[in-house]
Amino acid sequence: MRGKCYICNKTFSKAGMVKHMKTHLKNNGDTRLFHVVVDGLYQPEYWLHIEIPADAKFKDLDKFLREIWLECCGHLSAFEIDGVNYHSKYFDFDLDPSARDTDIPLSRVLSVGMEFYHIYDFGSSTELRLRIVGERMGKTEEKVRIPARNEPPDIRCSCGKKARWICMQCFVDNLGENCYFCDGCAKEHECGEDMLLPVVNSPRCGVCGYEGGKYD
Ligand SMILES: [Zn+2]
Ligand SMILES: [Zn+2]
Ligand SMILES: [Zn+2]
Ligand SMILES: [Zn+2]
Repeated sequence: MRGKCYICNKTFSKAGMVKHMKTHLKNNGDTRLFHVVVDGLYQPEYWLHIEIPADAKFKDLDKFLREIWLECCGHLSAFEIDGVNYHSKYFDFDLDPSARDTDIPLSRVLSVGMEFYHIYDFGSSTELRLRIVGERMGKTEEKVRIPARNEPPDIRCSCGKKARWICMQCFVDNLGENCYFCDGCAKEHECGEDMLLPVVNSPRCGVCGYEGGKYD
């Protein structure tokens, strides 16, 4: 559950990092930035701290989450905030007349202290929890900055070596147990190569062809 601070390169626990970030994130500019902690709703060992301008749009945040953790084959996604769903323009809004578009600024809906959710793929879904833990006036070069991220979990093959591969078939059949393999054991594995996906630092590891993100 430990993670690395990319500002000073020290590692901290998940809870410790929230506190630690306050020592770095000071007012030093004229752009309003949200400090957001994102984690896997059912895989809390994967977590990120990000900073994003308050006037960025939900579709920008969706794009970032896809790039770092989610995108496999262009599934639909949505945010859920206080019971309201926010969908991309590709969504059929007749299906949920109360839904809103992701083409609106974060600041119109979010404020410090709020918790909300993101769902990617309504079939084999990956659900994320997001919390606005702070805000400041800062500088931005990029739309989204990643000041901290969890270290890759130490996942082992049954032989004890570091796992490089996950078998999609065994992942489903064994409910997440006995599905990780080192290079050597992967070659011998009975389900075959087509079922193997690389082990990546993401809550979508092992799901629907996911092979890692832009920042891995
Ligand atoms: Zn630091
Ligand atoms: Zn997919
Ligand atoms: Zn298998
Ligand atoms: Zn092995």
